Amino acid sequence: MPAMLDDPTASAIYRVSGPAPYPEPYGPLPSEIMPRQVTLRDRTTIATLVPFSSPLQVPPRLTAYLCELLNGEIEKGDTYPMMDGLPLSSFGPYWFANFGAIMVIGDAQSAEEVIQMENNGADWSKNCLGSFYIKPNYPGRSSHVCNGGFLVTDAARNRGVGRLMGECYLEWAPKLGYSYSVFNLVYETNVASLRIWDALGFKRIGRVKGCGNLRSSPDQFVDAIIFGRELGDEGDDYQTEERFDKIRFYLKTGTYPNGSDRAEKSRLRSAATHYRLIPGEGPNGEPDADNDKLMLKGKEVVSDPHKQYEIAREYHNETHGGINKTTASIALQYHWVRIKETVSAAIRNCSECKDPTPKMRESTKERRTPAKSSASGSSRPRRARSGSANEVQQVVAGADAIDEQQNVPMANMQQQFEGQYPPMPVDPRIDPRIMNQWPHYADGSQPMVLDDLPGMATHNPLKADEEDVGARLRAELEAEIMHDSYPAGVGEMGQGR
Ligand SMILES: [Zn+2]
Repeated sequence: MPAMLDDPTASAIYRVSGPAPYPEPYGPLPSEIMPRQVTLRDRTTIATLVPFSSPLQVPPRLTAYLCELLNGEIEKGDTYPMMDGLPLSSFGPYWFANFGAIMVIGDAQSAEEVIQMENNGADWSKNCLGSFYIKPNYPGRSSHVCNGGFLVTDAARNRGVGRLMGECYLEWAPKLGYSYSVFNLVYETNVASLRIWDALGFKRIGRVKGCGNLRSSPDQFVDAIIFGRELGDEGDDYQTEERFDKIRFYLKTGTYPNGSDRAEKSRLRSAATHYRLIPGEGPNGEPDADNDKLMLKGKEVVSDPHKQYEIAREYHNETHGGINKTTASIALQYHWVRIKETVSAAIRNCSECKDPTPKMRESTKERRTPAKSSASGSSRPRRARSGSANEVQQVVAGADAIDEQQNVPMANMQQQFEGQYPPMPVDPRIDPRIMNQWPHYADGSQPMVLDDLPGMATHNPLKADEEDVGARLRAELEAEIMHDSYPAGVGEMGQGR
C-alpha cells in the first residue's frame, strides 16, 4: 500500500496540514506513543510494537534485515508496485523518515532495548515479526491524510501479526496528527491483506481496474482496491474479535491469556459467567478444538469477520430478504456485535439484488425461512467451502461479472450509493427482532412489507429507475431512526460488549 506517487528515492514528505504541532524530521515522537505490548494469536507469545521516528534510531542489522524483507517482497512481484529492490542506504529513510514501528518478540520497553537486543546478537529472522510505516499519502495541504506500508516476516505468518499491526496503525496514526488513512494499492490477489482491512473497518472506496501487472499472473492485469478510513473515533470495535478469542481461551484453559492485567482478568471472570464453551468434535467424535463453539445465551458467538460475512451471505441468499429480516434470522442463532452491518455489506455485494431490471425472480417463489432450514443441521454455515481466501475472491469476481453484464461500473454505483444515503446507523443495543415487530411508519405505511411480499424484496416499485438495495436500505434506515427514539428499542444485543 505504498503512498501516492511513491518513489523510494525521493526525499521524504512531512505532515504540514492538520493539527499542530507538525513533526520535525527525525524529531521526537508524541509522548502518547510508547511501545505497545501485544499477545499473538496463540495467546501465549508476547511481542512488542516499538515506535521509531527516525532511521537513525533503528539498529543497523535490523534495518538490513527489514530492507531484505521488503526487497524480497518486491522481488516476488505480487504486492508492491516497485520492480527493483532498494539499496540499503535508501531503505532506512524510505521506511522510517516519518514514523515506523517494528514488532519484536518479547517485552521491549523502548527503542534502546531493541538496540540492546541487537548488541546481544539477536537473530532478527527469529526475533523480528514485522514492521509498518506511517507517512503522508499526499504532500502539503493534504498531508494530514496518511498511508501505511506493512511487512510481515516469514516467521510471523499466520500468527495474527498483520492484524495486530493494523490495529496499532489505527491507534497511532491519529496520535501522529492524521485524520484519514488511504491505502492506494491493495491488489485484489492479496487476500490476507484485504481481509485485515475489511475487518478493521476500512471502506473499499475505489477499484482501479487492471492496475497490477503482477509477477504471478503476467498475462493478466489484476485490479487494485483503494481503502479509506477515518481515524481516531473508533472505540473498541475492532478489538471485538480478539476479545471473544480471549474469553474462549479463558474458558478452555482456565487460565488468563498472557499479558492480561488486573482489569482484564476481572473482565474475563465476569464474562465467563455469561459464556459457555461447547467442545468441538471431529467426524469420528474425537475432540477437535477447531470446532469449539463459544455460546452466549444459546447463540453461537462468531468472532471471525469472514465467517460472519459468509453467514450473512448464506442467510440473505435464502430469500434475498432485506436487512432487518436477514439480521433477525441470524440473531436467532448467532451472536456478533454488528450483525446488521455485516448483513448490509452482504446485501450490497449480492449480485441478484443488484439487478436493476424489474422482473419476478424464480427464486422468490419458493421462499423458505432461513432460521428453519438452518436449524435442521449444525449451526455452522451450510456451504463450507475449500478455503476462505477463495471465497473472498469469489465474492469480488461475482460482482465483476455483473458489472460487465450490465455495463455499470461498480465503483460508480457504490459512490453514488454512498453519497446519496447517510451511512447505516449501527447500534448494537437495538435488538433487530424488536425492529421487525414494529409494524408502521408514523404515516401508517409499512416499511417491513418490503421483506414480506414475494418479488418485492429486491424490486421496490416505488423507485423504478434505481430500485434495488438502495431504496430498501433507505426505507429500513428511516424505520430504524424511528426505533432509535423508541425506548423499547434497547434490547439484548448489547450484552456481548
Ligand atoms: Zn440478494
